[in-house]
Amino acid sequence: MTGAVLSTHGLVARYGDFQALYGIDFQIGQGEAVALIGANGAGKSTFLRAVMGLLPVASDMVRMGGQPIGGTPADRMVQRGVAIVPEGRRLFTGMSVQDNLRVAVDQADRLGRRGGWSLSRLHRLFPILNEKARTPVQSLSGGQQQMVSIGRALLCQPTVLLCDEISLGLAPKVIREIYAALPEIRAQGTSVVLVEQDVGLAQSASDRLYCLLEGRVTLTGPSGSVTRDQISQAYFGGS
Ligand code: ATP
Repeated sequence: MTGAVLSTHGLVARYGDFQALYGIDFQIGQGEAVALIGANGAGKSTFLRAVMGLLPVASDMVRMGGQPIGGTPADRMVQRGVAIVPEGRRLFTGMSVQDNLRVAVDQADRLGRRGGWSLSRLHRLFPILNEKARTPVQSLSGGQQQMVSIGRALLCQPTVLLCDEISLGLAPKVIREIYAALPEIRAQGTSVVLVEQDVGLAQSASDRLYCLLEGRVTLTGPSGSVTRDQISQAYFGGS
């Protein structure tokens, strides 16, 4: 990988007195997909929140294109090109699909973000979002809601897309449909960080992976060449 678009350097995060991350070194290149795996409570979501400016971190612990940006408030992170597909989706459920997406278009306009994602391009990626444009989000299936959530993040024209367990609770067919969109997203030059519980899925969808255990990186390497034994050791610890 030449030149990280986003990197973390000894990233530490706390919830009050509880330390959740202990010095994470991470990097992702342009258009790369990097998976973050680990058991429940390993610190994966905390890592995304810390990068996104949703937890207080020191500025030089997170860098974009080499510039320190740690602790930048989340809306300014969007302005700098980082968008998150949060766990639980956090959509405006009473609003229609198109109104949810327009919020993101307006936000990108307001923040001066320009890029290749338009509503029509998004509709080509997930045609159901066009068919259901006027449907309230609360009437959609879980998979369709996830597509809205991904669409909303893409319309912020991110350089780096952070995805927090986008497969959670979805049927295998729907998961395949959503993951099939990743190559197109990466073809736009967008880098994708995938937090995933499903290790096989994480491995097959990414170029490299990091495994976290109790707030520390226990394994990193090319997704295609780390072995099941290495992952199992890194996932559960022990000697
Ligand atoms: P999961 O797959 O369960 O979401 P995770 O790897 O994403 O797991 P995190 O949610 O990042 O793990 O949690 C890391 C640690 O931080 C856990 O010990 C968790 O209990 C703790 N934690 C997470 N959120 C909070 C919070 N708001 N307040 C206090 N502790 C928290």
